[in-house]
Amino acid sequence: MQHTLIILKPDCVQRRLAGTVLARFEAKGLKLVGMKLIQVSKALAEQHYAEHAARPFFGGLIDFITGGPVIVGVLEGNEAISVVRNLLGATNGAAAAPGTVRGDFSISKQNNLVHGSDSPESAAREIALWFPEGVVSYDIAGSTWVFDGA
Ligand code: UDP
Ligand code: MG
Repeated sequence: MQHTLIILKPDCVQRRLAGTVLARFEAKGLKLVGMKLIQVSKALAEQHYAEHAARPFFGGLIDFITGGPVIVGVLEGNEAISVVRNLLGATNGAAAAPGTVRGDFSISKQNNLVHGSDSPESAAREIALWFPEGVVSYDIAGSTWVFDGA
């Protein structure tokens, strides 16, 4: 089972799409093992997006992600990292495929609603950064109908 970090970005919260997005993750069979609504500090935002520090969009991205509260969570599931990335769709909402979160609800490169970790290394780093307190381990009813144990 993999863990992956999701961030429902400020545009997602402000547009009241958090429930809609979370419903898609739950319906897919992913399990929430961490979740909180927080106002992100500039320092945390800059650490999270450190790989993009030299990019021209970095300043705008930090302003955006700190511009309102976010809901950050950890999802658990079989191949959770790629499953979430596929559910989100391409970075640019204007180009993202219909049926994906970004394809259905975003028409912007920056305001693309949700972050998902892009590799096991990123997931481990991001989960440690956002959830230093750790996540929750629990069994979920009916999971044998969702997972095949492989
Ligand atoms: N972003 C942006 N302009 C760009 C590319 C990306 O504002 O030209 C923002 C966008 O919010 C994106 C985030 O920066 O989600 C991180 O970019 P990345 O390429 O890692 O995309 P992601 O992994 O989120 O699909
Ligand atoms: Mg990325």
